[in-house]
Amino acid sequence: MTLTTRPLGHVTLAGAGPGAAEQLTLAVARALEAADVVLHDRLVGPEVLEMIGAQALVIETGKQGFGPGMDQDAITALIVAFARTGRNVLRLKSGDPAVFGRLGEELAALEAAGIGFTVLPGITAASAAAARLGQSLTERGRNAEARLLTGHDARGYAESDWAGLARPGAVAAIYMGKAAARFIQGRLMMHGAAPETPVTLVENVSRAEERILAATLASLPQAAAELAGPAVILLGLAPRQVLRPQEIAI
Ligand code: SAH
Repeated sequence: MTLTTRPLGHVTLAGAGPGAAEQLTLAVARALEAADVVLHDRLVGPEVLEMIGAQALVIETGKQGFGPGMDQDAITALIVAFARTGRNVLRLKSGDPAVFGRLGEELAALEAAGIGFTVLPGITAASAAAARLGQSLTERGRNAEARLLTGHDARGYAESDWAGLARPGAVAAIYMGKAAARFIQGRLMMHGAAPETPVTLVENVSRAEERILAATLASLPQAAAELAGPAVILLGLAPRQVLRPQEIAI
C-alpha cells in the first residue's frame, strides 16, 4: 500500500502598500498574479485588487488592524485550511504586513501547522504620508527616533511614552488615531507638549481621495473630526511650504 499525502501549500503574507498600484513592490505584483487564493483586508486599494490573476479565488476578510471584521481566529483558520489543500495562498494586508497587521498571530498559526511561508514587505502608511509632506521621519539634529503608535488597542485607547512624545522635535506616526485624537491631545498637553506643535493628518494617502490636513496639537480634535477615510496622524511634522496650496489648514 502506498500512502500519498498531498503537499502542503505555501502562504505569502504581503504588504499591498497604501493603495496606489504604483506603490507595490514587484515581488507583491508577481504574487498577485500567481496566487490561487487571495485573502485581503478591507483597506487594500481597488487598483491593487485589479491586479489579482483571473484564476484566483478572492476573499475579503474585512479585518483591518484592531478594527471590526471577521474574527482573527476565523481568518487564521481559513488561511491554514486553504494552504492544507495544497494551494498557493496570498494573505494581503494594506501597507506593510508587519505594522499593525496581526502578522505575528498568523505566522504562529502557520508554524504550528507546519506550513511554509514568505513575508513580503510593503510601504507602510507612515512612509507614504511623510513622502507626501516632503518630510523625513527622522532627521539629524531633530529626532533620532520616530515611533509608530496605534490610537487604540484591544483594551481601548492605547497608552504610550507621552513624556517622550511631548518633547520638542519628537516625531510619531499614529495609526487608527481618529477616535483617540482628543485623548492623545490631552495626554501630550498634560506632559507639556506645546499647543502649536505641528500635526498633519494624511487621509487616503496615494489614493484619488487623498487629503492632507495641516493642523496643530491645539486643533487636532477638530481636524480628526473632518476625517472620513483611513488616515495616519503625523505628530511633529508639517507639510513643506512648497506643498501648501494642496493642503487644508485647520
Ligand atoms: N499595515 C498597515 C496599517 C494597518 S492599521 C500599514 O502598514 O500601513 C490601519 C491604519 O493604517 C488606518 O487606521 C490608518 O491609520 C492607516 N492607513 C492604512 N491605509 C492608509 C491610507 N491609504 N492612508 C492613510 N492611512 C492609512
